Amino acid sequence: MSPTVDGFTFDPATFYDITVRDDNESCTNFGQTFDAPCVYSNAGTPRIQCGRCGKPMTIIAATRLDPQPEVS
Ligand SMILES: [Zn+2]
Repeated sequence: MSPTVDGFTFDPATFYDITVRDDNESCTNFGQTFDAPCVYSNAGTPRIQCGRCGKPMTIIAATRLDPQPEVS
């Protein structure tokens, strides 16, 4: 069974277009959303950290890239 992160199911070793939101109230990015257009899922658990507070951001949308990018 594929792992889930924040309610989304991710295949391992797959690239996704992911939208994240900072839910850390003490961060200047709180409530803002960010688009990460090419995120590798690793073992099926992609994590995107906030560049300001360093906390993992909440995934609010995820789309499997089609076609998958070439890995060089
Ligand atoms: Zn933050």
